[in-house]
Amino acid sequence: MAVNRILMALTAGLMAVVVMTQPAGPGQPASSAAPGITTPPVVTLTAATYNNSRCGNTSGRVLLTLDDWAYGDAYRATRTGAYLQSRGIRAAFFLINEYARRYPGIVSTLRKQGHWVLNHTYSHPDLTTLSNGNIAWQIRNGIYSNRLRPPGGAYNSRVSGIAANLGYRICTWTIDTRDWQYVNGSRRSVSSIRYIVRTSSYSAKSSGVILGHLFTNYPTALSGIIDDLHRQGFLFCRNRGPVGAFAPFPLACT
Ligand SMILES: [Zn+2]
Repeated sequence: MAVNRILMALTAGLMAVVVMTQPAGPGQPASSAAPGITTPPVVTLTAATYNNSRCGNTSGRVLLTLDDWAYGDAYRATRTGAYLQSRGIRAAFFLINEYARRYPGIVSTLRKQGHWVLNHTYSHPDLTTLSNGNIAWQIRNGIYSNRLRPPGGAYNSRVSGIAANLGYRICTWTIDTRDWQYVNGSRRSVSSIRYIVRTSSYSAKSSGVILGHLFTNYPTALSGIIDDLHRQGFLFCRNRGPVGAFAPFPLACT
């Protein structure tokens, strides 16, 4: 797992958020800096700043993402898509195309339901271990779109460069539900998944991206995750009807 890399990227993103000028307090002159020391410039995240872990989400809302494939129950994807649509939510599905290509109706149904369906490669390899030619092959034979979620979140400048040449931006996440892990011999529970999301930091939620998988308890946990975050004052990407193959930047979440 590329957890360290992701944490570093996230930390860099957070640093960009927290660097803000403080208003001068009472009795504190505005120009209290010592001579020769300049005030750092105000850094704000703008729509022009694409953050890989936020996938272009600048809306303040939360983007739910569902990865891989529902093994043995392919239509769990579209059932979950219908549920999210019924709650007015637009999600993003990163399907492994080796499976999705056998069910083109699932991709088109998800898009009609108002969800983005994006590239998660053809067969889910660690792209950093492949040759340039094989990286390009995996992306070209993934679901045609304009966002790439590298399997395992593993990417480097070589991967992102090849992806960019093929028209893709990297899209990872700010919250990993760790739904894929086994806890005491069984797959992480709905309540544990909910707990991980609920107790994540504010900055991971605001304009954040939640990672979960179609083959775990995550689809079942979604209704609770939605309720929990609503209670905390967060909204989700709004579903405004059918979408095409491309996810816009900034993401259309409002
Ligand atoms: Zn995956």
